[in-house]
Amino acid sequence: MDIVKALRDLIGDKAVLDAADTATRSAGVWRPDNLQAAALARPASTEEVSKVLAWCHANAVGVVAQGGLTGLVHGADATADQVILSLERMRNIEEINPVQRTATVEAGVTLQALQEAVEEHALMFPLDLGARGTATLGGNAATNAGGNRVIRYGMMRDMVLGLEAVLADGTVVSSLNHLIKNNAGYDLRQLFIGSEGTLGVITRLVLRLREQPSARNMALVGLETFDKVAAFLKHMDHSLGGTLSAFEAMWQSFYQLVTSPPANGKPPIAQDYPFYVLVESQGADRELDTQRFNNAMEAAYENGLIVDAAISQSESDCEAFWSLRDDVEQVLHHGFPIIFDISLPIGEMEAYTTNLKTSLAETIGEHNLYIFGHLGDGNLHVNVAVKAEDYQRLRPVVEQLVYAPLAAFQGSVSAEHGIGLEKKPYLDVSRSANELALMRSLKQALDPGNILNPGKVV
Ligand SMILES: Cc1cc2nc3c(=O)[nH]c(=O)nc-3n(C[C@H](O)[C@H](O)[C@H](O)COP(=O)(O)OP(=O)(O)OC[C@H]3O[C@@H](n4cnc5c(N)ncnc54)[C@H](O)[C@@H]3O)c2cc1C
Repeated sequence: MDIVKALRDLIGDKAVLDAADTATRSAGVWRPDNLQAAALARPASTEEVSKVLAWCHANAVGVVAQGGLTGLVHGADATADQVILSLERMRNIEEINPVQRTATVEAGVTLQALQEAVEEHALMFPLDLGARGTATLGGNAATNAGGNRVIRYGMMRDMVLGLEAVLADGTVVSSLNHLIKNNAGYDLRQLFIGSEGTLGVITRLVLRLREQPSARNMALVGLETFDKVAAFLKHMDHSLGGTLSAFEAMWQSFYQLVTSPPANGKPPIAQDYPFYVLVESQGADRELDTQRFNNAMEAAYENGLIVDAAISQSESDCEAFWSLRDDVEQVLHHGFPIIFDISLPIGEMEAYTTNLKTSLAETIGEHNLYIFGHLGDGNLHVNVAVKAEDYQRLRPVVEQLVYAPLAAFQGSVSAEHGIGLEKKPYLDVSRSANELALMRSLKQALDPGNILNPGKVV
């Protein structure tokens, strides 16, 4: 079977790369390897996506949808006998409706392109994450991305009003709802959001936009205990009257990492506090918001919740604070990092991390542990950096140490990155047998031939 020829007959010669050309492309952000696949199809419309899927369905060929390849769980990996379906030629922002406050986009539009386009209308698309320049909105929906402002606006799931998806057999399900409230039957969009390309290929989206905040205040804060971090979160959320927009925590070793050479960042406050928090408030009245933010900070200091703080005086201060938190690539420079994205109730975080520090020290010996995360949402990124030569041997050991205790702490093996291939063996830590059985029934109903991203998630 000549897959390349068959697909070229359907969507054109230039729209399909053969295996050799596919292998010249990188497999993604932070990846040393290149792509492999029998062919890489680049359809330019929903109709062409449908033709590719119908053919693959009829010929039992596996299909892996790819967006910006910034996913961190090997969800978009393909094998040499599969077809990659890239959304890179579907990058139109079709409509921005400032009255309904919606944007209709093709799935290959990057997150940053939409963020910038809606700014011209004094609107905001609130999803934000470090990979914004490359990650696509289709990929954001397929992974149910979270990012920096979940505490205020929710995850991608909360920002998608409608979507269009192509099913395994090529059927187009256009559910491009523009309404905030629509209880007419099952909420079909939610089936595809977070399904990592296993139930359908997302081709278009209707996204909910918000008013652009015109004032922002930030502080980088030093704290002495984890209890105070948790109390500071409650205090700021209560005091800021709904304007709290980010609450990012950094454990000492991560703060030191991003504020010491070779990192470019300079430490805005001393480097010896056990915990650091980046807190952000966004509102619409510069004077009043600043006063409220400063009052809340002052009260936190007087009540002994925080011991030190650098408070932003300008937008460039805010950018500088965020660039420290976003400089996660530094973990690549101190050993080979094993990267985790877990969720925990805030009340369990200290016990969990203390327990993890002990078990890592007892079991794997020398390593670097960097913890940071979207603490306001209960999401921690745990990075365990080991020596390059120990990486393969230690990886499964470290995975056990990180994942196994999560169930007892009511945690989750994936907060926002998804399951992909990487976390599949651990899905049952966070999901019951009946939940897994229902997931498999859904997969079977929507993709009976198992051609969509085979082997991923369930
Ligand atoms: C520096 C950096 C920072 C990051 N920060 C965050 C963060 O804060 N929060 C967060 O949640 N994630 C974060 N990520 C992870 C990543 O950016 C997100 O998972 C993102 O949503 C993936 O989008 P993508 O277009 O790159 O998808 P890809 O990597 O191409 O694909 C990811 C998955 O989605 C599927 N998929 C892609 N497009 C479609 C489609 N159109 N239809 C169906 N399935 C599809 C793929 O098959 C795969 O399973 C970060 C990554 C990096 C490198």
